[in-house]
Amino acid sequence: MVIKPKVRGFICTNAHPVGCAESVAQQIAYVKEQGDLGEGPKNVLVIGSSTGYGLASRITAAFGYGANTLGVCFEKAPTERKTGTAGWYNTAAFHKQAEQAGLYADTLNGDAFSNEMKEDVIAKLKENMGNVDLVVYSLASPRRTDPATGVTYKSTLKPVGQEYTTKTYDTDKDKVHEVTLEPANDEEIHNTIKVMGGEDWELWMDALADAGVLAENCKTTAYTYIGKELTWPIYGQATIGKAKEDLDRAAAAIIGKHSDLLVEAHVSSLKALVTQASSAIPVMPLYISLIYQVMKEEGTHEGCIEQIYGLFNTCLYGDNPTLDEANRYRMDGKETNDATQAKIKALWDQVTQENFHELSDYAGYHHEFLKLFGFDIDSVDYDADVDPQVSW
Ligand code: NAD
Repeated sequence: MVIKPKVRGFICTNAHPVGCAESVAQQIAYVKEQGDLGEGPKNVLVIGSSTGYGLASRITAAFGYGANTLGVCFEKAPTERKTGTAGWYNTAAFHKQAEQAGLYADTLNGDAFSNEMKEDVIAKLKENMGNVDLVVYSLASPRRTDPATGVTYKSTLKPVGQEYTTKTYDTDKDKVHEVTLEPANDEEIHNTIKVMGGEDWELWMDALADAGVLAENCKTTAYTYIGKELTWPIYGQATIGKAKEDLDRAAAAIIGKHSDLLVEAHVSSLKALVTQASSAIPVMPLYISLIYQVMKEEGTHEGCIEQIYGLFNTCLYGDNPTLDEANRYRMDGKETNDATQAKIKALWDQVTQENFHELSDYAGYHHEFLKLFGFDIDSVDYDADVDPQVSW
């Protein structure tokens, strides 16, 4: 099969197995280039392990520290006529490389929010890997079925309190235009917290502790985006921000409940970048295209792997972590510092339909977007016939 990108709105509906493998190989190479990372995790569970920040966490744990990894993800397998999802191919590529490097790796594909998945993970840990000393929680999902009630909740991306009018960029129509976002009602806020808040992270930690598969001094982290004034109305202080605030509550609850094991729980704040999750958020493609422009000029641009390597090296396993007043690890300083934000704000105020491509790094954004699905990578021959049926 010859595979070319099929982009529909903010998503690409297919993926390229060779391109995804190349993108995983590049991230592994980056981590290996950093040399000896010293003491780190040995047995790692990554919930949301197949793309974005979770995949980068798995790669850093395995190829930076030689850790065994168990991944959990929700991906579609390929068929004869249809490609698998990018996360499927990334996971297959990760497994192949881990095997070659003699690293234990296993992945369970299914709904991380369910009780069944938690039971399956615990069984795997008992059977093959032993107690975990790091749990990374990196899920991004539009819906969640509460295992206690069977009720399915959907998240909403809306402002809280009042409507918000802002510029946005429509990647489909190549158009910069104004958009007015209606405020969420209480039910929408509640539902978003049910999906993207800390409840499921807590349930995971409770289940692992109850089953006796958490190592003493186990660390756990869940990822958040905090941002600044430009994104607060649609992210930080919006429905998703309310859900992310709930992670802070969950972190404290996890520390309290599992004090016998001295579990360390931190929310980690990461920078905004192109992933499947962020491209679905209104305003983010415009904001990210502008920060790419500014941060590349400053020489401070980072992708998932650089951010996560930094998080492990300086915060999770470093001596001098950057912590904020809410006990969160902060890896977003290069984006959120006042000087950089002022440059982004200046561009934001000027940007119009006419000058968008000149002022922003949309070319860089679009390249990164295609790369998420294994496309637009120089070393890959996209005219070659490839077998979509890859497994792990
Ligand atoms: P992503 O879409 O690339 O990854 C999401 C992962 O979750 C995938 O591995 C997917 O398979 C898995 N997943 C989704 N639903 C699942 C389910 N029901 N069961 C099992 N697995 C499931 O997203 P990302 O951008 O890497 O986001 C990961 C975390 O990082 C999120 O909490 C997000 O809010 C946070 N974050 C993202 C950004 C950003 O700019 N992208 C910035 C800061 C923090």
